Amino acid sequence: MRRLIPLFLLTALLLALTAQVAGSRAGVSVVLNGQDTAIPAYTEDGRTMVPLRDIAEALGFTVVWDEDTRTAYLSDGAEAAALSAYTVVLDPGHGGSATGAEYQGVRESALNLSIAQKAAAVLRREGVAVVMTRTGDSDLSLYARTDLARRRSADLFVSIHCNVSTANPDAMGVYTAYHPDSAEGRALADTLRGAVMAAADAPDMGVEERPDLAVLRTAAMPAALVECGFMSTPAELALLCSEDYQQRIAQGIADGVLTYLRGEK
Ligand SMILES: [Zn+2]
Repeated sequence: MRRLIPLFLLTALLLALTAQVAGSRAGVSVVLNGQDTAIPAYTEDGRTMVPLRDIAEALGFTVVWDEDTRTAYLSDGAEAAALSAYTVVLDPGHGGSATGAEYQGVRESALNLSIAQKAAAVLRREGVAVVMTRTGDSDLSLYARTDLARRRSADLFVSIHCNVSTANPDAMGVYTAYHPDSAEGRALADTLRGAVMAAADAPDMGVEERPDLAVLRTAAMPAALVECGFMSTPAELALLCSEDYQQRIAQGIADGVLTYLRGEK
């Protein structure tokens, strides 16, 4: 699915643009693979710039712009175009003074953010628009998180956390939760659980109704919460701290979201 823009397209484009600039005094024309376009160009200090979005879309690519990281994601194909219609909110749990669980000096808020950012990158590469409820170590109320999702007309809301067990010092694995009033939330939670378990090769800690969780109760769209592993179990805390394992969990979260959006749940 992921492909680079073929170099010949860029080369053809640059040659066409250069020729037009050289031959025209009144403005700039953009010719794309031999065809005139209405794409605007801007000249500043002797440099001519063409909007990336216009060029990419004219070539049939889907463009997702991420303001947080100032990254433009270009994807090709009908599937990326279909996925670009969706906005997914990823919600790294806690943040700021609310650190969540803390074991061996590791804060849950930091693990949640790191995993969420990796999942966002995977989804954006596939063409999905992702909104993060926080991109740094900032305080954010539970209601502000679902408010943001509503304002951005999000299609899905996924909250990302790490777990703790005071009863079982050996607890390991993936757990997901949904609100009992939402059949879609249940389907999303179940899809996420299977996808994260598969990608991370993690044990199953189940999927559960959680009427008590505010982010699930107040989300206006299908919502689920993923507990990525148990910080209270030293072996799993070590895994959760590793870049490689975080990437696998993140891939699982992205896989689950994509499966749900594609209707393969
Ligand atoms: Zn948490």
